[in-house]
Amino acid sequence: MPGIKASEARRTKEARFKCDSCGQTFTTNHNLKNHINVHFGVKEHSCGSCKRDFTTQSVLARHMKTCKVANAAS
Ligand SMILES: [Zn+2]
Ligand SMILES: [Zn+2]
Repeated sequence: MPGIKASEARRTKEARFKCDSCGQTFTTNHNLKNHINVHFGVKEHSCGSCKRDFTTQSVLARHMKTCKVANAAS
């Protein structure tokens, strides 16, 4: 059954990276690593303006748009 094989392959390609802690799956290793930081509480992305720490680059980027300190400085 080639049809079944194709769908199997596509599914594993879509979510190859699985979090051992909660079972969430991710399409890229990069996304999985970002997610794992949430479990460990690792916050290695700091806002240069208010010095708050964030777990992922995307969370920091979102913060930067609303950071009162950064907006006040400009
Ligand atoms: Zn997880
Ligand atoms: Zn900030």
